[in-house]
Amino acid sequence: MKALEEKILREGQVYPGGVLKVGSFLNHQIDVPFMVEMGREFHRLYKDEKITKILTIETSGIAIAVMCAAEFGVPVVFAKKHQTKNLTNDCYVTPIHSYTHGNDYEARVEKQFLNAEDRVLIIDDFLANGAALDGLIDIIKQSGAHCVGCGIAIEKVFQQGGARIREQGIRVESLAMIGEMTEDGQITFAE
Ligand code: 5GP
Repeated sequence: MKALEEKILREGQVYPGGVLKVGSFLNHQIDVPFMVEMGREFHRLYKDEKITKILTIETSGIAIAVMCAAEFGVPVVFAKKHQTKNLTNDCYVTPIHSYTHGNDYEARVEKQFLNAEDRVLIIDDFLANGAALDGLIDIIKQSGAHCVGCGIAIEKVFQQGGARIREQGIRVESLAMIGEMTEDGQITFAE
């Protein structure tokens, strides 16, 4: 998606450790019309797949997932990163290692929101080493639902998650694919 690449070049900031900050439109402030465009693009890519649910993980995946779900006319389920009082114990639970925070946590989805009849599209903001996607794929497996594929806003191809997940036969569509990011802020997109 050319418009996303241009926005990354204009507004993205490269942080140490291969982290891209896109707080002006995705990770802090949300550019709503732009999210609508991303939702439309995911719909264009997956429109024939009879999707029944969009699955994401809090927090930054939610905005894109909501726009995408509006296009498909289906609900969004977002995995929660904390066990809270308003969450029942009847959950699918999976361990995830956070790339940006460097810690481990458990992601949870209440069983009532995913079942074996569902055809699920996973949406997330970034794909780096693939731990978040591994966790969401595991939750879908536990539920018996079918994972149709993944829709990612920004994939960092210099990390291995995308290649590893595609090798498993899972479709991954990324709207921008970063091939290289240098310490001085240069960003190059993969072909
Ligand atoms: P992974 O699990 O694939 O290693 O990392 C994906 C998750 O980590 C995403 O859900 C995203 O929240 C976060 N993440 C990974 N890399 C970046 C990055 O470069 N910038 C931002 N803002 N988040 C990232």
